[in-house]
Amino acid sequence: MEENSAKEERPLNFIEKIIEDDLKNGRVPNNEIVTRFPPEPNGYLHIGHIKSICLNFGLAEKYGGRCHLRLDDTNPEKEDLEYIDSIKSDIRFLGFDWGKYEFYASDYYDQLYEIALNLIKEGKAYVDSLSPEEMKEYRGTLTEPGKNSPDRDRPIEENMDLFLRMKNGEFPEGKYTLRAKIDMASPNINMRDPALYRIKYAEHPRTGKKWCIYPMYDFTHPISDAIEGITHSICTLEFEDHRPAYDWATSIDGIEHTPHQYEFARLNINYFLMSKRKLLYLVKNGYVSGWDDPRMPTISGIRRRGYSPESMRDFVSRVGVAKVEGVVDYSLMEFCVREDLNKRAKRLMAVLDPLEVIIDNYPDGKSEYFDAENNPEDPNSGTHKVAFSKHIYIEKEDFMENPVKGYHRLYPGNEIRLKHAYYITATGLEKDKDGNIIRVHATYDPESRGGTTQDGRKVKGTSHWVSKEHAVKAEVRQYDKLFKAENPGEATGNYLDDLNPESLVVIREAYVEEEAKFAKPGDYLQFIRNGYYMSDPDGSEEKPVFNRTVTLKDSWSKMKAKMGF
Ligand code: ATP
Ligand code: MG
Repeated sequence: MEENSAKEERPLNFIEKIIEDDLKNGRVPNNEIVTRFPPEPNGYLHIGHIKSICLNFGLAEKYGGRCHLRLDDTNPEKEDLEYIDSIKSDIRFLGFDWGKYEFYASDYYDQLYEIALNLIKEGKAYVDSLSPEEMKEYRGTLTEPGKNSPDRDRPIEENMDLFLRMKNGEFPEGKYTLRAKIDMASPNINMRDPALYRIKYAEHPRTGKKWCIYPMYDFTHPISDAIEGITHSICTLEFEDHRPAYDWATSIDGIEHTPHQYEFARLNINYFLMSKRKLLYLVKNGYVSGWDDPRMPTISGIRRRGYSPESMRDFVSRVGVAKVEGVVDYSLMEFCVREDLNKRAKRLMAVLDPLEVIIDNYPDGKSEYFDAENNPEDPNSGTHKVAFSKHIYIEKEDFMENPVKGYHRLYPGNEIRLKHAYYITATGLEKDKDGNIIRVHATYDPESRGGTTQDGRKVKGTSHWVSKEHAVKAEVRQYDKLFKAENPGEATGNYLDDLNPESLVVIREAYVEEEAKFAKPGDYLQFIRNGYYMSDPDGSEEKPVFNRTVTLKDSWSKMKAKMGF
C-alpha cells in the first residue's frame, strides 16, 4: 500500500486485467461490462461495503458499462424497508447511481421456482426428508466424503408431488428440503447436494404471503446474475469455495447467459468491527445511539461524523483490490479524511475549554468585526465576519501562570496574537478560593489590528478565541475509537469487553463563533487548532451540536507527551 499512489497512474488490479482481457478477446456480450452490488438488506452498510461499492460501480464507470443494485432479499424475516432505504442513500452519498437497474432477488422467485421444477423433472433435484441434524451428519467433513441420503433416489413423480405440496404449505418448516443431486463425495462440501429450497412460513416484505418456500443463496445468487446479464460477478474471498456451486447453477439447462464469479479480499481495518450481525447487536442493546451513531463504522455513521465521500473513495483506492487478506491501519483512513477536509473545510473558531480574558484597555461595550478567511487552502472560499469585544474566551491550555520552557502561548508578561484580531499581553489573573485560575487580564495593542504591528515585531504564539458576548454555547461531541483493541474480541473473547469507555466525551459548554450556528449537517468545518467537525442533526441554531470528525495532527500534544506532562 502506497500513501502517495497517484490515482490516475495506478496499475490495473487483477479484476481490471481480467476485464480488459475479456473485452479484447470478445468474451463480453455487446462489449458491455455489467456488474452488481448485492447487499442483503439485513442491516446498514459498513465501511467494508464501500470497497465493494467502489469496485463494482467503479468498474462499470471505467469501462462504460453498468452496475446493478440488487437487494438480496432471500431471508424474509431479517429484512426491513428501513435497511433498503439506508442502503440506497449510502450508495448515493458515495456518488454512485444504479439508475433504472434496481433489482431484488425476490423478483426472480417465479423463475427460480420454474428452474427448480425442471431440475426435478430431469432427475437433477430431489426432495429430502432428512432433518437438519441428519443432513449435517450425512454431509461428511473436509476430510471424509458425505453419504447419500436415503431419499436421493426418490422417483421423479414423488419429488414433483412433494415439492408442489411444500409450495402449497402442506408441511411444517424443516420437514422437507429440495436438494440438487450433484455429488456427495465431492471434495468441495458446497457441492454435496446443496439445498435449493427450504420451507419457511414468513411474510416477505415484497412478496408477502405468496411463498412459504424460499430459495437458498447458492441457487438464487448465480441465477439472479445470469438473468440480469451480469458479466463479472465480484464478491469477497469467503465465496471462493462456493464458485463450483455458482458454476453449476449458471450452467443449468435453459440458462442462456453465463456470468463468472471473481473473488477479492475483503476490507478489514484495525479497531473496527465489520459484521452487520455484531453491529446490529450494538444498536439493539443500546451500546451506541443507532446505526448512524458517529462512532459506528457504518456509512451512515461516518457520514454523520463528517467523513466526506471523496475521502472514502480515495481511501479504498489506496487500499487497492487484491486476493490477499490483510488488515488496514485506521490511521490511513484518517489520513485520507484529513487530506480531503483540509482542502474544503471552512475554518471557524471554537473554544472547547473556556477561560475568560478581559482586555482592560479595550472600551467597554464596544464590538468590532474582523474578516476571517474561510479556508487558506482555497483562495476562492471567501471570508466571514467574526466579532471581537472586551471579554473573550481562549482555551485554558493556552494560558499558563508559570510557563514551562518552550511554551509560547499566553503567560503573564507575554504577548501573543489573537487569530484574525489583535496582539494582547497578559497582565494579571484572578483565582477562586481553591486556587483555580478563573480569569486573565490583558491589554491589547490597538495598532496591531488584523494581526500585524507597525514596528513589525514578532510573537511566537497565536491563539484562537471567541467573543464572550457574541459566542454561541454549543455541545461538542469528541469521539474516539469505539473499540480499544486492534482486533476487538481477540484477546478478551468478547468484543463487548473491548468497547472503549471513552469513545464519546461530551463537552456541554463549548463556545463557537456566531458563524458556526449556521453550519448544517453536511457542511465540513474545521475548528481552528481543535480538529475537523460537523454539525449534528441533534442540534439547532440556538443550541448547536458538533461532532468531531477527526483530530488535526497536533504537534503540541506530541511535544507535551515527550516532555512528560
Ligand atoms: P457482513 O459480513 O458484514 O454481514 P455481508 O457480506 O453479509 O457482510 P452483504 O450485504 O451480503 O454483507 O454484502 C454485500 C456485498 O458487499 C457482498 O458482495 C460482499 O462480498 C461485500 N462485502 C461485505 N463486507 C465486505 C468487506 N469487509 N470488504 C469488501 N466487501 C465486502
Ligand atoms: Mg451476507
